[in-house]
Amino acid sequence: MGVSFSFDNSYAALPARFYTKMAPAPVARPGLIKVNHALAEALGLDPAALESAAGVAVLAGNAVPEGADPLAQAYAGHQFGGWSPQLGDGRAILLGEVIDTEGNRRDIQLKGSGPTPYSRMGDGRAWLGPVLREYIVSEAMHALGIPTTRALAAVTTGETVLRERPYPGAVFTRVAASHIRVGTFQFFAARGDAEALQALADHAIARHHPQANGALALLDAVIAAQARLVAAWMGVGFIHGVMNTDNTTISGETIDYGPCAFMDSYHPETVYSSIDQFGRYAYNRQPDILLWNLAQLATALLPLMGEDREAAIEAATASVHRFPGLFQAEWLAVFRRKLGLLTDGPEDAALAQDLLARMAAGQADFTNTFRALLDGGARDQFLEPEAFDAWAEGWEARRKTEDPEASRAAMAGANPAVIPRNHRVEEAIAAALSGDYAPFERLVSALATPFALADGDRDLTRPPTENEVVRQTFCGT
Ligand code: AMP
Ligand code: MG
Repeated sequence: MGVSFSFDNSYAALPARFYTKMAPAPVARPGLIKVNHALAEALGLDPAALESAAGVAVLAGNAVPEGADPLAQAYAGHQFGGWSPQLGDGRAILLGEVIDTEGNRRDIQLKGSGPTPYSRMGDGRAWLGPVLREYIVSEAMHALGIPTTRALAAVTTGETVLRERPYPGAVFTRVAASHIRVGTFQFFAARGDAEALQALADHAIARHHPQANGALALLDAVIAAQARLVAAWMGVGFIHGVMNTDNTTISGETIDYGPCAFMDSYHPETVYSSIDQFGRYAYNRQPDILLWNLAQLATALLPLMGEDREAAIEAATASVHRFPGLFQAEWLAVFRRKLGLLTDGPEDAALAQDLLARMAAGQADFTNTFRALLDGGARDQFLEPEAFDAWAEGWEARRKTEDPEASRAAMAGANPAVIPRNHRVEEAIAAALSGDYAPFERLVSALATPFALADGDRDLTRPPTENEVVRQTFCGT
């Protein structure tokens, strides 16, 4: 039985300097880990065909399916604030694009598919850990209702990848609205290639922001989409961990699940990434870092904003300056829902900030505290429950102005019962390394309905014990 994709490739039709056309590098012995049935069906793919030997060969990069036009994309980017003029897919191959059942164009990309001309001191491969991590966390994000790339499949390679030690190799199939990044624009801007910049902007507008009528409107649309995205991250305690400009999408989807993590107990300065020594990408720095990244996009787009450079700079600057207000509005909308507030009260931001400050002082678990607002158990999350009680008086008074049913429904849909806690992700990876995929499967399945937990999954809501706490996460390269 063959696996058939209805490819409709648009990126491959862009000029040759956008990519290197090449096939993925085959692996020794492809083995199936998991195919995401619901997503496969949404993409018009047959899950059974993907799980067949022919399907797994495609997912491992051993066979290029008909209609694919495989390529590695070129991009650049600021990494930890430092300029890298030449990045690109160093361990990924875009097979092509398909139109899903809702009419949306989706990239299908293999990650861990071998070296490319853009590989940077690396083998172009991935090991099992980061592949399972991205599978779990990106699908959890999707179920939380947060824009994200998705996990179509994970396969093993039958090969060993050398990191701190040898690990089993794996390939991840990533689905995305596109893989166009702020860094893709920077790549051409840095080369003074206005023609490519224009072609990229036209492509990105048609694909992601069709209402935008030019580069300035594109900038505004990306600012809006990213403000919404990062506000949503803040609402679930998500720390991306590596918000480089090459990991900031034009579509507004979360991309690149490397050293990312969800917080357990709340602290605004939380950092997990082993390489983020100075906390550049800490939880509470994310809006400012996003602003910085958007300023880089604005700079890259300037050549497309007309002959009058002064006027272009003025307009782009005005757009970037609108970000803080936009973000604040998105953030407030997210936290209002979490507090069950459906109307706008003048003190709502202060109310939310006050709760967060008390949570930090009281070492309250982020997810469990918000979820427990529904059943009155939130005070137990605090070292000193009285600190919560004092806040709750004001909250109860404010909530009296809301329709109780609607308020509860908002909270139930905004405060997940379960998130992919680090120690559970690590546990699933450790088990898989010894051949037991049951914890991985269980996690994926529980996280598919994060607002409605099955009784048997209660234990997944428990924060880590002192021994279980994961203090550092890694890039996975
Ligand atoms: P990331 O930190 O995942 O955003 O990756 C930054 C850059 O390093 C990208 O250009 C990647 O393609 C490249 N890279 C990451 N891991 C590898 C690897 N194992 N082999 C080759 N290139 C890599
Ligand atoms: Mg990246």
